[in-house]
Amino acid sequence: MFSLGIRKTFVITAIAAVFLLANAWMLVSWLGDHGIIEWAGWFKGRFLTGTAITVVAVMLILYVKPRASVKSFISQCPVCDSKIFGRKNYCPDCGSKL
Ligand SMILES: [Zn+2]
Repeated sequence: MFSLGIRKTFVITAIAAVFLLANAWMLVSWLGDHGIIEWAGWFKGRFLTGTAITVVAVMLILYVKPRASVKSFISQCPVCDSKIFGRKNYCPDCGSKL
């Protein structure tokens, strides 16, 4: 179902997340020493107001194409009109090239 690249990315992300969690206190102290937490608090108070978050959320909802992945996953054979699941080069029912 998932392609090899997606599975590799998932495994690498999981390993990186575990490493980050294991070093969470070191990471927090590093962020505090470099003033990044204070900067993030200032940024949140200055720019991430309720109105800005609402506008960003509405834009994300409006720009997403609904059912785009479902359409590419399920297609229809042009010869026998049977439903084809996944990306295949040949129809499993009649064998015609897609
Ligand atoms: Zn067919």
